[in-house]
Amino acid sequence: MHVYKLQAQTVDEKEIERTAFERDTRKLEPWYQVTDDKQREYAVCPACDNPIRLVGLYEELPHTDRPYGRHTGKPVTGFDYFNADNFEWCPYVRKNQSKGSSRKRGMEGISLKILGIVLTQFDRVIYIIRKETGIWISPQIALAMLENWIEAEGYRFHDATLRNIPWMFAYRSKGLSIFGQKISKGQDELRQAIIEGIPHARFDENGRITKGDQFYEVTWCFVDYRRKTEDDSLIEMVEFEVCDGDRNVVFAKTITFDPRYFANLINYSNPDKREPHLIAKAKEVYDRKFGADFTRSLVNLVGGFDATLPESIRAEMMPGGSPTGSSGQ
Ligand SMILES: [Zn+2]
Repeated sequence: MHVYKLQAQTVDEKEIERTAFERDTRKLEPWYQVTDDKQREYAVCPACDNPIRLVGLYEELPHTDRPYGRHTGKPVTGFDYFNADNFEWCPYVRKNQSKGSSRKRGMEGISLKILGIVLTQFDRVIYIIRKETGIWISPQIALAMLENWIEAEGYRFHDATLRNIPWMFAYRSKGLSIFGQKISKGQDELRQAIIEGIPHARFDENGRITKGDQFYEVTWCFVDYRRKTEDDSLIEMVEFEVCDGDRNVVFAKTITFDPRYFANLINYSNPDKREPHLIAKAKEVYDRKFGADFTRSLVNLVGGFDATLPESIRAEMMPGGSPTGSSGQ
């Protein structure tokens, strides 16, 4: 693989490049360490959180001039997370598997981390789905997706990783009616496709899909997840489709996953853009589905609700206090 992150638990993905890596780590432990009298460089796989060793950062390689990362297959001092099961499913290990997997992991390891991140970053997950589809879905639809994703156990599938959370969240939820939802500004192609494909469809002055002169249905779905390796980079995609009442596709587009978009939202976006009430609603769903104690353990596992959320909201959602993550700082 040609990407890395510095620590497990963070949502991040950076290109492996010598100078950038030196600056990122300041050449300190645990990323630079000496074992058996030899200096080696380590980081973490963005998809599965296991340690990777960087190869070719300094030494010349016979077959390529590009440094790359390789799973160590064993724990490395200074990296607290290791789970050998990742060889079963990490897409950077199993490159030949183009259609993803119908196999599931246990309720452990990455499955729990994904559950924790979806909850603590639920507003960002939904933001990405809104941007990718061009449909500004309501909290009600967002929560319906969440319920369904939990019912489908979307977090347990082998193809759900830490680098594709918002997109696989969408893929693992079922088709839904988007009647009443708002088409974002600038999405003229989508709006036009709905008007042409569903003649009774109407839009109100705010861009919401609204009642026409006759009853009609309009739904969306995410289908055909697939992935490929191109120039040694992992590319993941899903088809987004809008359908009429007879399930004919009136609009389709390919959504290519963009892990750095999600990482940047979490690590750098404006706190004013957060939607605490959406997260609070998501927590109610978790409490109901998993119980309050288990939900609390999921939140703690990923470092708590991060500090870009208002203190009052954090206190309300985690009574008794919880560690708060440093992301977003
Ligand atoms: Zn991995």
